[in-house]
Amino acid sequence: MINLELPKKLRASANQAHQVAAQIFRPISRKYDLGEHEYPVELDTMAAMVDGLSDSGTQKISGASGGRADDEAPSTDVLVNANGGNMSALLNALETSWGDVGLMLSIPYQGLGNAAIAAVATDEQLERFGKVWASMAITEPSFGSDSAAVTTTAVLDGDEWVLNGEKIFVTAGQRSTHIVVWASVDRSLGRAAIKSFVVPRDAPGLSVARLEHKLGIKASDTAVLLLQDCRIPKDNILGSPEVHAEKGFAGVMQTFDNTRPLVAAMAIGVTRAALEELRTILTDAGIEISYDTPPNNQHAAAAEFLRMEADYESAYLLALRAAWMADNKKPNSLEASMSKAKAGRTGTDVTLKSVELAGALGYSQRLLLEKWGRDSKILDIFEGTQQIQQLIVARRVLGKTSAELK
Ligand SMILES: Cc1cc2nc3c(=O)[nH]c(=O)nc-3n(C[C@H](O)[C@H](O)[C@H](O)COP(=O)(O)OP(=O)(O)OC[C@H]3O[C@@H](n4cnc5c(N)ncnc54)[C@H](O)[C@@H]3O)c2cc1C
Repeated sequence: MINLELPKKLRASANQAHQVAAQIFRPISRKYDLGEHEYPVELDTMAAMVDGLSDSGTQKISGASGGRADDEAPSTDVLVNANGGNMSALLNALETSWGDVGLMLSIPYQGLGNAAIAAVATDEQLERFGKVWASMAITEPSFGSDSAAVTTTAVLDGDEWVLNGEKIFVTAGQRSTHIVVWASVDRSLGRAAIKSFVVPRDAPGLSVARLEHKLGIKASDTAVLLLQDCRIPKDNILGSPEVHAEKGFAGVMQTFDNTRPLVAAMAIGVTRAALEELRTILTDAGIEISYDTPPNNQHAAAAEFLRMEADYESAYLLALRAAWMADNKKPNSLEASMSKAKAGRTGTDVTLKSVELAGALGYSQRLLLEKWGRDSKILDIFEGTQQIQQLIVARRVLGKTSAELK
């Protein structure tokens, strides 16, 4: 029998994240939407809290800490069931994003780069980088979706890698203490030569060129970074420096299996926030949402609400599945992309439809609905756009390579 209840341990952790979202994030949500690029000082309290919790070994409070492939996972015995770091991070990302996704992306020490480190670092590297705040720098001026087109280079010079290139749209790129940078160790060898490197903020040759002004998630800093003869220690490369043409791109791409369900969770959190607000507005307007009457016999707004709620539920279940598979060492690239595609699409659909159904009130800044409409769009873009997720799903379902289906 399938039990879809969350275990007690995870419920407690999700509940704690929800309290943070309700008591810390929601009250300052509009303030940092209006004050773009202002540092949310309130989050410093959270950094201390997160530190305390991980020191005591209790739990991860929030965000993108992700999980290691061998983190609390069982052996390959299929009868054993584990809920580990991925599931915990997913639920916490969902709850905190319900509060404010821009602030969630700004929580110190919980960057997407942390999930990448957790996924592929050696034990020694995890010891060194376990407590950093890492952002993730893949995108360059010449490409976004095609991650194999990296032009940033990394050349070994004695005991150091020397990096050169420009990275754009780096979330938390100004505030993070470290940046996980994708660079090629030999451009003539194609995608197999792309590796990820942990670049400390104070590495010589690293600078922030500027910050982007954006449609939404204004609390989150999005930076353009320059790497000009940037020197980092030799052992800051994640994974092996060897180029294995037969393994291709698999090493760095593996990080997406952990991060895509997390971004799905962010979209699901924002979706739930919008649905809750809409339910209140419809109820106040005297529109009943009934679960006993067929939708086509109800008020049109109630029928629309039920449709969106069903989308929300399916996005939620797909994301849980992807995280559960990662925790249980099952290959989840297909499910990670499915969950990201469904949740990203649902997030933009539900938030904008909620603005529409709420009428002028939905468009006004008196509520956060219009903000969620703006915030949700990015969740269908970064970590792979809607179209790219669909392409990956199609390739996997049809058994096609990236060369056969572009
Ligand atoms: C606020 C924000 C934060 C970001 N944070 C980060 C970050 O932390 N780190 C990082 O590395 N990057 C980050 N990005 C970059 C983001 O990942 C890219 O914007 C994204 O991958 C899309 O790339 P692109 O913008 O170059 O669009 P393009 O790749 O040029 O795509 C343009 C359009 O074409 C579609 N398209 C592209 N290829 C195909 C295809 N083969 N088939 C069908 N349709 C296709 C896309 O879906 C899209 O709709 C961020 C971006 C933003 C806006």
